[in-house]
Amino acid sequence: MQIVAKGLTYTYNPKSPFASNALKGVDLTIGEGEFFGIIGHTGSGKSTFVQHLNALIRLTGGSLRVGEYDLADKKCNFIELRSKVGMVFQYPEYQLFAETVEKDVAFGLKNFRKDMDEEARAAAVREAIETVGLRYAEMEGRSPFELSGGQKRRVAIAGVIVTKPVILILDEPAAGLDPLGKQELMELLHRIHGGWCKTVVIVSHDMDEIAENCTRAAVFSEGKVAMEGTPAEIFSRSGELFALGLDVPMTARCALRLKERGIDIQTDYTCRDFTDKVLALWKAKGGGDAQ
Ligand code: ADP
Ligand code: MG
Repeated sequence: MQIVAKGLTYTYNPKSPFASNALKGVDLTIGEGEFFGIIGHTGSGKSTFVQHLNALIRLTGGSLRVGEYDLADKKCNFIELRSKVGMVFQYPEYQLFAETVEKDVAFGLKNFRKDMDEEARAAAVREAIETVGLRYAEMEGRSPFELSGGQKRRVAIAGVIVTKPVILILDEPAAGLDPLGKQELMELLHRIHGGWCKTVVIVSHDMDEIAENCTRAAVFSEGKVAMEGTPAEIFSRSGELFALGLDVPMTARCALRLKERGIDIQTDYTCRDFTDKVLALWKAKGGGDAQ
């Protein structure tokens, strides 16, 4: 399912003194199969945009199509849409509520797949819990509140992927996790991506995360898309990113330094590609001069 937004606008508290123009005409296409990144300053409209994608925020201006669903159409089947477009909020662990992990994860299924029998439901819950890297036997009967932060987040993600959404959207999924936790989470998303989950969309302010994981990304600024492209395209425009008050990945900072010294490395800004290119250059120079 392709996502196509055209001229998307949204205002919180319209017609009040507290009106806030969160989206000011977002044009963005996210193709099926992408691992798409959304970058931008706090308040640039990232969360407002992604909450439109499964109609948590109803369209008020512009057009939005997600696969065959036209979100401007009042007759659009929003319940069916939400079962296909899974949304993991920022700090989703705060929304756990059930007495047991099993019940929490099963909740989404009960809402979306009323036709499923008990046995199929139990199997789906088990599969979701194991997909996020937790042991079902250890987890099912436990209270989600007694788990570690990282485990809670996994349970919350299991509660969304249990319906096997075709598009999975995660708002700052790795926020607050330690480096290992972040890496494991990204590995989990890549494991899911490409199977039943065709498209992953992550909101992130971590440029290294975007460079390492995304096929393409969009930079939001003041409710609009300021830049769009592959990480290589975006991070080669570091001057514009700095002007928007954004950072660049560590690899891009190193590439800039090298460029200042007359060494222009063409890299996609992943750590691996960058170190490969630097090492190749070093070898080509006889391996001696470590300039
Ligand atoms: P981001 O996720 O990029 O930080 P948001 O989409 O949360 O940006 O916010 C975009 C703008 O909308 C900001 O100016 C923010 O203050 C405002 N905003 C977000 N949520 C609300 C809300 N529930 N009520 C009023 N204004 C909001
Ligand atoms: Mg946000």
